Amino acid sequence: MLEKGIPMKLKPALLLAILLLTACTTAPTVTPVATSAPTLAADLAPYRLALNAANQNDLALADRPTRYTLTLNYIADPPTLAGSQAVVFFNRQAAPLNEIYFRLFANYPDYGAKITVANVSVNGAAVTPTLEARDTALRVPMAKPLAPNASVNLHLDFTLTIPRISKSRYGDFGASDTVVTLPSFYPLIPAYDAKGWHIELPPPYGDLVYADASLYAVTLTAPSALTVIASGTTIDTRDNGNGAKTWKIVGAPMRDFAIVLTAVLQKTSDTVNGITVNSYHEPGDAEGGKKALRFAMDSLRVFQARFGAYPYTEFDVVETQTSALGIEYPGVIVIAQGLYKNPREAETFEFVIAHEVAHQWWYALVGNDQVNSPWVDEALAQYSEVVYIEEMRGKGAGQSLVRGYFGEVYKRVQSAGRDAAVNQPVAAFTEEAYGEIVYGKGPLFYDAIRKKMGDENFSKFLKTYADRYRYKVAFPDDVVKSAEDVCACNLRAEYQQWILSPAAK
Ligand SMILES: [Zn+2]
Repeated sequence: MLEKGIPMKLKPALLLAILLLTACTTAPTVTPVATSAPTLAADLAPYRLALNAANQNDLALADRPTRYTLTLNYIADPPTLAGSQAVVFFNRQAAPLNEIYFRLFANYPDYGAKITVANVSVNGAAVTPTLEARDTALRVPMAKPLAPNASVNLHLDFTLTIPRISKSRYGDFGASDTVVTLPSFYPLIPAYDAKGWHIELPPPYGDLVYADASLYAVTLTAPSALTVIASGTTIDTRDNGNGAKTWKIVGAPMRDFAIVLTAVLQKTSDTVNGITVNSYHEPGDAEGGKKALRFAMDSLRVFQARFGAYPYTEFDVVETQTSALGIEYPGVIVIAQGLYKNPREAETFEFVIAHEVAHQWWYALVGNDQVNSPWVDEALAQYSEVVYIEEMRGKGAGQSLVRGYFGEVYKRVQSAGRDAAVNQPVAAFTEEAYGEIVYGKGPLFYDAIRKKMGDENFSKFLKTYADRYRYKVAFPDDVVKSAEDVCACNLRAEYQQWILSPAAK
């Protein structure tokens, strides 16, 4: 995410001040997926339609991914989504699981939405779940513990009451005059790692999702006048003849699934490296829509060359009324309306899009715990703006971004006595400090290790890291270890100085 108030998350006055300072495959071999349960034998063919021809083997890279089958019915007035969800979940842990959690992020207090779940069953037997974490986590008990490597079939129904967008959490969930934005709107199984199930809630300025790459098959019925923008690829549409239409969408392997509905936005499209890129903009913002398309295509082209393939067939950029500058979802980014309308913010517009596109690698493909280690994706998405601008305008432009932008933010932090360790949960920071430290100081770590290991090794590191953790989860030490493996050098001093220590100097 990029929020106003940071380097690319800057409050307008500050943003202006900072802008003035800146110039600103080889396909892997398919390995058979372990088939410990008959449910996994179901045909993977439909999911392949979500992937580019060159990335078909990516289906084998996610370890026994959770499989979501969602049937959704959207009612426009009042805005409501009725859903039925079947899930096949594998226990990939060494220990048996006594319960499985679903996150109900729509119940995040600041959203003003409400999701209720009914008819929960485990392997066909009804169970009684319980709500935790301010109703954002649903604990589903197992009648007997789910053994390691075993799978389970879960089923539930849900009803989502969609609110008007609220300003208190970036206006990122709900209905505005132009779009209905539905990120993480369905019951989503969170990551389970060495610390167990993750059902924490970050403060409203942090990203919510920490989850594993999964397979999605979504059938959505909605008024036919609507355009459906979604993570994943629409593989079929059918007019139901009653004013409603049904879309079939697949996403695989994807870390989350977002839907945006609109009767207002217009679309401009192009292709880059075989990927269809769609830019959805308000009717009065055709110029901005074209720019957004170009920035997204340039970013995808640069990052594919530098980080490895973007595997999906589609990428969508959507103009919304979010109060963040931009927010990332797998296959979809939303960008603030103000950036389309204000030509003076052209450079911010470009950087924000580069940042959100970079999240397709850092967060979506390479997952991380966004609640407890937000720097793992955010600091690298920030530094990816440097990678982007260097490719577009030369190394000098990239370095002036580092010095005039991240460097200036950090100088201000130091002189105000506000320095802090980067490697902390979102909740450890105030909103202002989160921006300054994670988005301002964090990218300086990458500049420091790049200087130590050299440009060539740094480039190799970015590719190695993206490749090693593709569809997996990277923890803070994995970042440093990947870099050290490439350079065969010791980067602990830089890691200590820029990421772990409360004060870098
Ligand atoms: Zn971000």
